[in-house]
Amino acid sequence: MRYLFVFLFSCCSYSSVLAQNHVLVIHGGAGSLTPGSVSPGKEAAYRHGMQKALNAGNRILKNGGTATDAVVAAIKVLEDDSLFNAGKGAVFTAAGRNELDASIMDGKTLKAGAVAGVTTVKNPITAARAVMDKSPHVLMAGKGAELFAEKQGCTIMPASYFRTEEQYNTIMDIRRAEQKEQEQKHGSLRQPENPDFKYGTVGAVALDKYGNLAAGTSTGGMTNKSFGRIGDSPIIGAGTYANNNTCAISCTGWGEYFIRLVMAKSISDRIELAHMSLDDAANEMMMKRLPELGGDGGMIGLDRKGNIVNYFNTPGMFRAYIKWNGESAIEMYRK
Ligand code: ASP
Repeated sequence: MRYLFVFLFSCCSYSSVLAQNHVLVIHGGAGSLTPGSVSPGKEAAYRHGMQKALNAGNRILKNGGTATDAVVAAIKVLEDDSLFNAGKGAVFTAAGRNELDASIMDGKTLKAGAVAGVTTVKNPITAARAVMDKSPHVLMAGKGAELFAEKQGCTIMPASYFRTEEQYNTIMDIRRAEQKEQEQKHGSLRQPENPDFKYGTVGAVALDKYGNLAAGTSTGGMTNKSFGRIGDSPIIGAGTYANNNTCAISCTGWGEYFIRLVMAKSISDRIELAHMSLDDAANEMMMKRLPELGGDGGMIGLDRKGNIVNYFNTPGMFRAYIKWNGESAIEMYRK
């Protein structure tokens, strides 16, 4: 009798685990995006890029893959798309280079991996994953991270692969403007005076059929960054965080502020310690604490029940989601 009970109980809990509904949410950066500021052709290209990323991640979730695999798959698509500031198409540093950062976290195990300042890894998110899965470390930077990524089989590209004319012209415009003004408004981290300007970092959060959460972020950082500057994207707890007990978060925006606020973990802590909902926690951090400090940007979040949130205090943010039942949306502007 006792065995029958145990058998029935484990069958029930197994099926309830399998019955978990999967969800994928992505972002492609926050910035000065307003209706009309992007040409219709370019808007269609952004939407197409986000749709491709949703499809890649959702295919994995649908077939019983893990949230971590889905996050990597979605981010890889966005890294390969030169419209976004991650992988190919990354912004330029003041020294005229593309230096890439990425991170990933598994909400079930709290394992995490990240790389910073890499210049040759085609898909930095795969290097972050390798750090998580195949090393005892969490964050690797520069040459060492590149060597490790190569050893782990990540695709390596010449530095010229990441260059796009659009981003190159942007850094050239900034240099010209700087020379003219001879002043730096916000230190050396200036955003371009470009109507098409976007931060363009990419990120994904996912919930799989087994009830596990994961989060990842990938970026070229901020235009004109200098002296080895690293933003929030590869910092676990700042730009990325996932914990099955609370939520999965990926951020984008002015990284210094997200680091100082420990943004992603602060949202998670509000849920865990103050028993706030994901929505209330994200709202307080993004719409109160971030602007109070003078920062701007956005975030996406997801909890184990499949609740999705996004907040941004910039005019717009590229964002999209798809749910187990096929419900899906792609958005760019403030509603
Ligand atoms: N958060 C990134 C950084 O500061 C930039 C971005 O999200 O656009 O490096």
